[in-house]
Amino acid sequence: MNQFNNEIWFVGAEMAPLVKAGGLGDVMGSLPKVLLKAGINIRVVIPYYKNIIPKNMISISGTYPAGSVKFGEIPFEFGIKTGYAQDGIPLVLVEQGHFFNRQDVYGPHGGACGYKDNLLRFAMLAHGTAYAMRILGVPLAVHTHDWSGGFVPAVIRQTFGDKKVGIDAEGILGAKITKHVNAKGLRPAIAFTIHNLRYQGVYGMDDFYDTGLDFKYNSSSAYEHFGTLNTLKGGMKLSDMVTTVSPTYSGEIATAGFGFGLDGELKSLKEQGKLRGILNGIDLDYWNPKTDKLIGYNLNVREDGFKLKDYKEWQNFKLNNKKTLFSEISLPVKQGNYGNPLPLIGVVSRLTEEKGIEEFLDALLNWNDFPFQVAILGSGKDEIERKAAYLAEIHKDKVYALTGRYDEALSHKIYAASDIFVMPSKFEPCGLSQMIAMRYGCVILAGDTGGLHDTVSDLTHGGSAEPSGILIKHIDAGGISWGLNELYNIFAGESGKWRKLVINSANKHFGWDDSAKAYENLYYEIIK
Ligand code: ADP
Repeated sequence: MNQFNNEIWFVGAEMAPLVKAGGLGDVMGSLPKVLLKAGINIRVVIPYYKNIIPKNMISISGTYPAGSVKFGEIPFEFGIKTGYAQDGIPLVLVEQGHFFNRQDVYGPHGGACGYKDNLLRFAMLAHGTAYAMRILGVPLAVHTHDWSGGFVPAVIRQTFGDKKVGIDAEGILGAKITKHVNAKGLRPAIAFTIHNLRYQGVYGMDDFYDTGLDFKYNSSSAYEHFGTLNTLKGGMKLSDMVTTVSPTYSGEIATAGFGFGLDGELKSLKEQGKLRGILNGIDLDYWNPKTDKLIGYNLNVREDGFKLKDYKEWQNFKLNNKKTLFSEISLPVKQGNYGNPLPLIGVVSRLTEEKGIEEFLDALLNWNDFPFQVAILGSGKDEIERKAAYLAEIHKDKVYALTGRYDEALSHKIYAASDIFVMPSKFEPCGLSQMIAMRYGCVILAGDTGGLHDTVSDLTHGGSAEPSGILIKHIDAGGISWGLNELYNIFAGESGKWRKLVINSANKHFGWDDSAKAYENLYYEIIK
C-alpha cells in the first residue's frame, strides 16, 4: 500500500475507441498513446461500461478485492480491474454495475438527456480511482478531465493528504522517473483539463452529502458556487494546474461572454499562471485518408506534404468516396451546371445550440434551391434533430440526415466525401472535427472562436497566406449563407483557387507532437 510508482494516470469518462461520446474520448484515446510512445508511463482510468466497450477491444489481466464507499447512508461496493486497451495502453477499470452498465456514457441523445444519477456515477469514478491508487501505487501525477473527472482532486486529497509526492532534483520525466519520494501521506500532483466549460456538473448543495466527499470541500474554495454544487469548479480549485484545449479558448473563458459564471475563477487562475491553453491534436494514424479502412477509397499519394499537382488525386479521392457514401445513404450524385458534381457539405456534430447547426439548417431552409448536397450525422436536441430530418424530407435528392445516432463508420465516410465541412460553433474549446475534416481535404466553414480560430486559416478578412476555409464572426442564418455562397463561388468558379484551398487544408496536420511535449513539461512542473 502507498508505494509510489512512476506513472501518470489519466482519469476520464470516455476513451476512444473503447467508448466515445465526443472530443474528450478522442483526447483520452490519443494523448496517452503519444505520451506512452515518448517513454512516459501512462495508465488510463475509466468506468467499466460493460454494455458499451466491445469485449475484443480490451484485455483484462488483474482483478482486485472490492472497495466500498458510502454515498450518504448507503454503501456501494465497486471493483477494480486492470488490463490493456487494444493499442497497448494500460487501463484501470472501475467496475460498478448499477452505475456503469448503461447504454450511454452520460445519457440518451449524446448526453443531451443526462442520467439523473450522473453526480453519483462520476463520484464513483473518483472513489474508484483513489482506491486503485492505494492498491496499485500512487502515481506521480494524475491528469483528470472535465466535470465528470471533477471529484478526482478532492477524493485524492482526502485519501492521501494535501502534500505532493514530488521527485528529487535529478528526476526527469518519462521512464527515467524512478527516484521518487517514498513516504506516506503524499498525493500525486493534479492536472485538470477543461474540454468544455459549458458542462459544469451543477447540482443542489443538498446532494453534497451523497458524494462521499469530506465536508470541508463543501465551501467556496472548492465545490460550492453561489449556493450550488459545481463539480467543475471544485475540480479546478483543488488542482495544481488547469488547462484547456486551445490558446484562444483559454483567453475567452476568463471573460464574461464565455465564462459560464466561472470567468472570475478562471481569470484569477490565469493571473496566478495556473491556467493554460494547449491545443488538442488528433491521432494522425487513425485519421489517415491513405489507410482508413472505413472509407471506400484511400488516397494514393506518397508524401504527406501535398503539392498542387496532387489535387487530381484528391479529386479522385473525393469523387470515389462520394460514390461510396451516396450508395450507402441512397442519395443520387447531382451534377452542377459546370460539369462537376455539386459540392457536398458535411456535418458530423453533437446537435446542441452551441454548435450553430440550427442556424445552418435555417440558412438552408431559407434558400430556395441551394446548389449543394448535404450529409448530416448528429445527435442531440430534439428540435435540431427534427429540423435536420425536415430539411432531408423536403430535399430528398440533396440532403441526407442521420440523427439520434452515433456512427463512427459513417462519420469517416462523410469526412472523406465532403468538399465543405460546416462547423459554425458559437464557442468551441478546441474542436476536433475540423482537424479531421482538413486531414481529409475538406474546406472549412466555421465560427471564428476558440480552437477553430487557432486551426482554420481564414480566406476572408484580409486572408491568411494559406487559407483553409472561412471563419464567421456572427453565427446566424445570414452569416452562414454568406459563407456558403462565398465557398460555392470559389468551388464553381476558377478552379485554381479551390484547388489551393483543398491542398492547404490537407497540409494542415494537427498531430499531438507539440502538445504532448507541452503536457510533458507541465507534468514535470507540477510534480517538482
Ligand atoms: P465535441 O467534443 O464538442 O463534441 P469535437 O469536434 O471536439 O466536438 O469532437 C467531436 C468528435 O465526435 C469528432 O471525432 C466527431 O467525428 C465525433 N462525432 C460527433 N458526433 C458524432 C456522431 N453522431 N457519430 C460519429 N461521430 C461523431
